Formats: sequence, C-alpha cells, structure tokens
Amino acid sequence: MNPLAQQDPAIWEAIQAEAVRQQEGLEMIASENYTSLPIMQAASSVLTNKYAEGYPGRRYYGGCEHVDVVETIAIDRAKELFGAEAANVQPHSGSQANTAVYLSALEVGDTVLGLDLAQGGHLTHGMKLNISGRLYNFISYGVDKVNHRLDFDQIAELTRKHKPKMIVAGASAYPREIPHDKFAEIANDAGCKLMVDMAHYSGLVAAGIHNSPFPYADYVTTTTHKTLRGPRSGLIMCKQEHLKLVNRNVFPGTQGGPLMHMVAAKAICFDEAMQPAYKAYGRSVVDNAKVLADTLMAAGLRLVSGGTDNHLMLVDVTAVGLGGKKAEEALDKCGITVNMNMIPFDERRPADPSGIRIGTPALTTRGMGTEEMKRVGGWIAKALSGPDDTASLEGIRGEIRELCQSFPVPAGHDAALVP
Ligand code: PLP
Repeated sequence: MNPLAQQDPAIWEAIQAEAVRQQEGLEMIASENYTSLPIMQAASSVLTNKYAEGYPGRRYYGGCEHVDVVETIAIDRAKELFGAEAANVQPHSGSQANTAVYLSALEVGDTVLGLDLAQGGHLTHGMKLNISGRLYNFISYGVDKVNHRLDFDQIAELTRKHKPKMIVAGASAYPREIPHDKFAEIANDAGCKLMVDMAHYSGLVAAGIHNSPFPYADYVTTTTHKTLRGPRSGLIMCKQEHLKLVNRNVFPGTQGGPLMHMVAAKAICFDEAMQPAYKAYGRSVVDNAKVLADTLMAAGLRLVSGGTDNHLMLVDVTAVGLGGKKAEEALDKCGITVNMNMIPFDERRPADPSGIRIGTPALTTRGMGTEEMKRVGGWIAKALSGPDDTASLEGIRGEIRELCQSFPVPAGHDAALVP
C-alpha cells in the first residue's frame, strides 16, 4: 500500500476518484489541461519544503543554492520561450500575477480599461468584488453587438474619454484571436501603458499560432496551466525597465516565499513548450476547435461570433431552449465536463447564463484529433437536444468511456504513479 493511502485513506480515495474522473471523461473546460509526468514529479518534489524569500542570489534564507539554480533556469526559459526581456516566475497564480502588475504600474484610484467580465473578461480585469475593481477605477470595454468581435472603435473612444493609465488586453472567454497591434496603437496614441493577460492563449503564442504580445506590451501576464500545459501557477513578463518594480510587487508586495516546487514545474513546462512537438500540439488544439465548432453549428447550435479561431468556443444554448446550467448538467451526466458561461449581451444571470464554454486543449493533449472531435460534437448536440433523456445520456456516457480508453491521460490516471 502506498504511504498516502495508508495514512489518509479519505484524501487518497478522493484523489484516486478524481484520477478516474479525469481518465474516463472528456475534459472540455477551456482553461484546463493535463500536465506531463515530469511536471507532476517536480510539483510534488522535496522543493515544497524550502523557503526562499527573495530572488536568486539575494535570498532571506540560507540553503537556497539549489533552488537558485531552479529559479534561474525557469526565468531564462520563460524569456527564451516568449522572447521576453524580463520575467518573474514567482506568482502563485494568474490573479496574483495581475495584482502585482497593477501595483507596479498604477496608483490606487487610477483609471484602467479592461474587457467586461460579462463579455469575456476575467475577474481580475476590474470586477467590482475583485481587488482590481476595488482598488482601481476600471472602465469596461466590450465586443460588437453583431459580430461579437472586440469593438476597437469603442476601445479608442473610451480611451480618449477616460484617459486611462493602462489598457488591459486579454480574455477568459473570447473565441477569436486578439489583435495586440490594435491595442498597442490605441495605447500609444493615448500615451498609456499596455498590459496583456494572455492566460488563456499563452500556449498558442508559445506554439507560434496566436500573434505574440511581446513587441507591444509593457507587461504580459499568464497562467501556466491552461493552453501552456504546465502546473497551476502564474508568470509575469515585462520590459526590462519595469522588472525592478514588478519584482518588488511580487515579493514582498503580494507574496512571501515562492513555491519552489511549482517554479521547478514551470521551468519544465517552458522547456516542453520549446520542443517541436509542442508546435504540433498548438496547431492541433486549434484544428480540433474548428472541427468541433463546425460540427456543432452543422447540428444547429449557435456559436458566439459564428465560430472560433483559438482553443475555445461559446455556445448559446438558449437557441435550443436551454439555460447554461441545465446544459452543463446534461453534459456532465454524459461525462463531458464544460462550464456554463455568460455570452455577450446576455439577458440571463451568471448563476444560469445563456451559454456554455467549450475548449479542446485537454482532449488534444490526450491525442484526440479531428475525427474524435466530430464524434464529440455529435454527442454534445445529442445531449443538448435531449437533456432529460436519461437512457440516451447514459448511452453517450458508455461510448465516451470506451473512447477514453484509447486515449489515456499522460500522467496520474493511476494516481499512485506520481511519487
Ligand atoms: N487571467 C485570465 C484571462 C484568466 O482566464 C484567469 C483564470 O481563469 C486568470 C487570469 C486567473 O488565474 P488564476 O485562476 O490562476 O488566478
């Protein structure tokens, strides 16, 4: 028996059950993925025992000679991977990365432009209850009512009117490529800073499929666990001139000791993302999303913006007489995991919005391709057309379980594999 199972059976069983859930179902939450076994190994390594406040060569604790090596490698790889001037690899999460940038670039009360949460933005882009919305005067921009693309006329007008100190680009639920050059043009004209939160699509930037924010942005933040396929964590990159303040606002500004096991896991992730196979992965994520979107539309479902050119799509399920909550639940019963999501100009409430968000990064990691996406699209359409037909949902679940057997997750489907 393994030590965890022996010492704490309740936690062990829950982890084991989650491992089975991840193996037997279709993980289609757009912000989730499966890491490699080496990343899992680093994330559960002895580095979790080490305190290392400060930065390589400038620590407030002894015994940091080995974690200094790890952090220096992680910084160098992040810069190389994205072509960034400078990087801080210590943020524990995407939200903390964003908060540290805000503290670096802004004074409390400053005006900032960010994408409306209800139109695809993130909580940290100015939501009232989030620290971003509480400390700063965020003004929301949105998408065009007809084509659901970012409305650059509106962004330019809001910039002229409110004279923000910074514009935040990036999104959590936007199915199209984000034109960083257009944001840069508006920011340059206004003489304000540009921050790009590429959390969702950083893996596509790394693979060279999505245009890079680096020629343009003062600050670029990302999570490392979405399309990038690393551990659950955050990363800040910036122009060299901003690094000193960014470092100060990560530690001691918003964090104490870095999670060195996660820094090591991030270093491995950055290396994986520089391998040729990763480019193919990124291409496949997008190809799969396109085929899935086409399959859903051919089955009569309505997609926000009429499709996708990245890793995700938003389906308006009201067109088939459902709310997002019921749609999420019906798919859950089949073993398809998605999340309900607001769609642009939604008239329903966040707890039961009009849409669901679907992504392909995790299934692509399992090796599924366009043929599988056609089957998956058929199952989704069938489930949404009969959400109360228990026998039909059970039937789909069986077929999915069978498909999943041919596409094992890369690590941890047997949780005992991970040391
Ligand atoms: N930024 C964007 C665009 C996101 O989509 C997310 C997470 O969903 C975050 C930031 C925050 O990441 P975390 O959950 O690691 O705080």
